[in-house]
Order: sequence, then structure tokens, then C-alpha cells
Amino acid sequence: MSGRPLLNRRLDGLGTTIFAEMSALATATGAINLGQGFPDTDGPESVREAAVRALRDGRGNQYPPGPGIPELRQAIADHQRRFYDLSLDPDTEVLVTAGATEAIAAAMLALLEPGDEVIAFEPFYDSYAACIAMAGAKRVPLTLRAPSFRPDLDELRAKITPRTRLLLLNTPHNPTGMVLTAEEQSAIAALAVEHDLLVVTDEVYEHLVYEGTHRPIAALPGMRERTVSISSAGKTFSFTGWKVGWVMADSPLVSAVRTAKQYLTYVSAGPFQYAIAEALRLPDAYFDSFRADLRRKRDLLGDGLRAAGFEVYQPQGTYFITTDITPFGEKDAYAFCRALPERCGVVAIPNSVFYDDPDAGRSQVRFTFCKRDDVLDEAAGRLRHLAS
Ligand SMILES: *Cc1c(COP(=O)(O)O)cnc(C)c1O
Repeated sequence: MSGRPLLNRRLDGLGTTIFAEMSALATATGAINLGQGFPDTDGPESVREAAVRALRDGRGNQYPPGPGIPELRQAIADHQRRFYDLSLDPDTEVLVTAGATEAIAAAMLALLEPGDEVIAFEPFYDSYAACIAMAGAKRVPLTLRAPSFRPDLDELRAKITPRTRLLLLNTPHNPTGMVLTAEEQSAIAALAVEHDLLVVTDEVYEHLVYEGTHRPIAALPGMRERTVSISSAGKTFSFTGWKVGWVMADSPLVSAVRTAKQYLTYVSAGPFQYAIAEALRLPDAYFDSFRADLRRKRDLLGDGLRAAGFEVYQPQGTYFITTDITPFGEKDAYAFCRALPERCGVVAIPNSVFYDDPDAGRSQVRFTFCKRDDVLDEAAGRLRHLAS
């Protein structure tokens, strides 16, 4: 072989995701994994049974239709009307994907030219950086700073250049738990309209908002024709392994994203699509009690982390709490997280790896609270040994 590196330059530096690294550490040490955000309790039994029924009845066992099964596309459109009073044509304005992850990848690959600039909040969800890079585009971070993690909208305005093509939003925001306010969304929408930008918005935590309310930015004036909204069943229904996600937008945008999507996975998750079509029609009581349960878990873990000595940044949404380790006299979140399983049998994620600005998140550590109460209690108890 020549001396040329095997990994192409676009993927240089993307290495192994931090979640794989930390989950492997959890497995190797037997530590409690509050790193990767997946629930340790499955979603509703009725939804699981719906998947079993689909499998048994032979629905979805062969390639489903490219855009997704009609029942699910209709259920997605009905969900948007029910919760947000938005209307979507299920035939042309909805596309089912292999999780939100594929939706993000397909959107970036379809909508970006090499050299385009994409403004995204940092800390970013790690696939954003990779997908922007694979599209040959350039990420331009808008740093969310502790303690409030509110976006600085003057800074956003200043970062828009003639090369800016797209704003990649995420609300509720992973990892900080920040939820954009109506005023912030209006200001962002006004900038997008003024500069004729596309907006891709990742709203997978739409049903996990504890303070404020979630409102899709696509609903704002001038936004519909420029916004690609992305969501997923994984977080809302606690079936993260099923990988059922979707894209919602005007038909020209959906059509562009579908062009990329059809050559990534073509189709996915046949029988699970039938089950999620049923899940989206669950009564309000499901969504309300799911949110109430997670809010309670947020408070349970938050109290535990404060008692253990962390500085805790209260999240308004998602199932993550970002903390700061400075009170322990420590500054390097990555080193802290690598040592944490040995020190006290808990795995967490260093937010520092989700920033381009090495100082902004250096001492931030993220914990997930989408775990059983006894697991959260046990983890909090173990973390109390840190101070001693
Ligand atoms: C979990 C997560 C995703 C991925 O969703 P899947 O449906 O599992 O692909 C995307 N974005 C954010 C912010 C997430 O936290």
C-alpha cells in the first residue's frame, strides 16, 4: 500500500464515537452506565405487541415502500396536527428514515454543496459534525455557554456569511437540555428568512420538555418552505433499538432528502413501522405520564448529583443533565470520565468532546437519567464517594 492514510480527509479526526468508547468502558468495568442515552425499561407493552403482530402477520417483513408505509406516514401527519396544529400531506411531505440519525445524514448529503457553511449549536450531537463533514461542508459552531446555555443571537447574526447555507438546530438540545423559547425561535426564523437559509431542526426530544413548551420552528411565518423537521420514535416511545425516524417538510425538500436516503438504507424497520404507527396514536395520558416520569427522574438524579458535589445545570428538556466538575478541583472532563468507572463505578460522557472551542466545555460532564429509579439511586450513592 502507498503511504496514503486509509481514512479520507473528510472523516479525519472523527475516530470512534465517545458513546462507543464509554459504553465499552462500562461493559469492561461493570460500572453503571449513565453515559449513552437509552432507557433501561422498554416502552409500552401494546407497542411491543404491535411489532410482534406485524412480524407474525407478515407485514413489513419484506422491503416496505421507499417513503415509509402509508399507515405510519398518516400517523406522523396526524401527530403533527394533534400536537402542533400543523398540516402535512402524508404522501409528499413525510419520509420515514432509519432513525433520526439517517434523517440527519440524508438531509446533509442532499442539501449541502462542498464548501457550504452550516451553523450549529455547540456542544453538538456528535453525528452532526460527521454528517456535515461527509457532505464536504464546514461546520460553524454557535457556542452555548454555561450556566444557561442560551444561544447568543447577536453572535448567530455575526456568524452568517455569504457561504452560510443552513442552520442546524436541535431543541430540546442534547446534551445541555436547553429548550429554545418562542422569542429565540422567532429571532432565528427572522434571520433564516432574511438570509434565505435552510433550517434543519432535530426535535427528537419534542415530548420531553419540563419547562416551557415545544413548538416546531416550521410553524413560524416564512419557515415552512425552508425547514426540514426531524423526529424519531426512539426517545418518545423508549424503543431506541428500532430506529424509526422521520423527516417532515414541503415536498421539494422531502424529495431532495429522499434522493439521498434511498441510497443510504433504501428502506428500514418494516414491522416496527407498523408498531410506531400505533404508538403515535397513543392517548395523551401516555405522553403526559412519560414526561412526568422523566421529570421526576431528572429531579432524582439532579438532587443526587448536587449532593455528590457537582455543579448541576438544570435541563429544561431531554434526558440528560450537564454538570461541572470544578467543585472537585478537576478541570478535564475527558480524563475525569475515563477514570470515573474505576473511582466509583459510574460511566458518564465528557461534553468537552462536543465542542470545537476547547475551553467552553472543558469541565462539563453529562449524565443521563432515563434509567430505573434504583439505578439512579445507586449511581448517586456511588458518586457521593468522590468528594471523600
Ligand atoms: C438520540 C438522538 C438522535 C438519534 O435518533 P435515532 O432515532 O436513534 O437515530 C438524534 N438526535 C439527537 C439530538 C439525539 O439525542
